Amino acid sequence: MFQLTKPQKEIQKAAKDFAKGEFDKELAYELDRDGVFPEEIWKSAADLGFIGIHFPEKYSGGGMGLLENALISEELCRKDPSIGSAIVQAPIGCELLCQFGSDKQKESYLPKVAEGELLSAKALAETRSGGDYTDVQTNADHLSAQWKLSGKKAYVINGGKAGFYIVTCKTGAEADPIEKCLTMFLIDAGNPGLISKPYGKRLGNNLVACSEMTFEDVLLEEDNILGKAGQGYFQLMTYLNQERLNLAGQALGNALASYDRMIDYVKGREQFGRKIAEFQVSKHKIAEMATRIELSRLILHKAAWLADNNKTDPALCSMAKMTACRTAMEVGAHTIQLFGGYGYMTEYEVERFYRDAKTLEIREGARDIQNEVIAEAAIGKIK
Ligand SMILES: Cc1cc2nc3c(=O)[nH]c(=O)nc-3n(C[C@H](O)[C@H](O)[C@H](O)COP(=O)(O)OP(=O)(O)OC[C@H]3O[C@@H](n4cnc5c(N)ncnc54)[C@H](O)[C@@H]3O)c2cc1C
Repeated sequence: MFQLTKPQKEIQKAAKDFAKGEFDKELAYELDRDGVFPEEIWKSAADLGFIGIHFPEKYSGGGMGLLENALISEELCRKDPSIGSAIVQAPIGCELLCQFGSDKQKESYLPKVAEGELLSAKALAETRSGGDYTDVQTNADHLSAQWKLSGKKAYVINGGKAGFYIVTCKTGAEADPIEKCLTMFLIDAGNPGLISKPYGKRLGNNLVACSEMTFEDVLLEEDNILGKAGQGYFQLMTYLNQERLNLAGQALGNALASYDRMIDYVKGREQFGRKIAEFQVSKHKIAEMATRIELSRLILHKAAWLADNNKTDPALCSMAKMTACRTAMEVGAHTIQLFGGYGYMTEYEVERFYRDAKTLEIREGARDIQNEVIAEAAIGKIK
């Protein structure tokens, strides 16, 4: 556990080299300012196998796990959190398809995502309920041979650009327990009835589209269901753990991006006749940042390793997400402080990293919700 395998180290190095060669500070600034997706870099990343490294090889994936995927996220986001996150979100939600999709569904979509032809999207949150993904108003009525799906989903990454959407719907009766009420559908973007409405200016994560998605009387067949009708709740709970690890990988990379710039800066800048790195208060801050980064990495690697070995620990996945996101926020804030006035300027990048970090912290359950999961596991049943 305390040492990556040779193939894992090679993946890490390949991702690092790729980001070094392809990501560019000026480009990142322009893409963030204009809200543009890095299309060419995405395609190159797919050519090199960085998209869907955790998909089965049969579907053009790398046949590896969430740990290898997290290593890629860490390295890409370390070089540039905005470009890195845009690339690693290209296959968003595909863990659901890998795990619960039929052979036909997987054959139709996974290779295109892995090969950089299609973006994916998952539409789970609704305006009324984002933190509680099980509070679903989007409805699917069972007609004789088809389903008719209607509803509205919020904050959909890649919304309007994706080739397909994985959507949670209510299919059970009012009286049914929630565990039996939800169904996930895979909806091709070409289906009539899909309307995307991009949100306006946002805080961060600006390189990817983010839209409200309306599904208006979308007609679907039985084979659009992911798994079986009524399995959505279980699928959702399984998926949340995986997505929390994906976000933790991005957050860890984000923290490192700020940290690396900060170390360079404090070793160069002098105030009151000394390098900023020489002030004891700076050193203590740096020590704390280094420790938190290492802590985030250890929790993430352990949680991902367990998940890859069929021993998923939901509390540890929540700890990984919460710790890495909190670290990215704290390292980002300290870094901006140590940069002083320059930290406030867009050309020094670190303000952009900080904006991106906040978006990671909100998603897939904010800190308070991760704490709920962790505390429930710690306390257990109260008699
Ligand atoms: C950048 C970004 C990308 C996203 N991408 C997607 C996507 O691709 N697909 C998708 O379906 N969704 C996506 N989302 C939605 C996201 O997962 C939700 O926004 C998030 O889960 C929070 O839901 P909410 O906005 O409704 O906040 P709410 O659920 O209203 O929560 C607001 C705040 O209330 C507090 N709170 C809520 N519940 C609890 C609780 N149980 N205990 C303690 N405190 C609580 C927390 O502080 C929380 O931050 C994205 C969101 C963002 C910001």
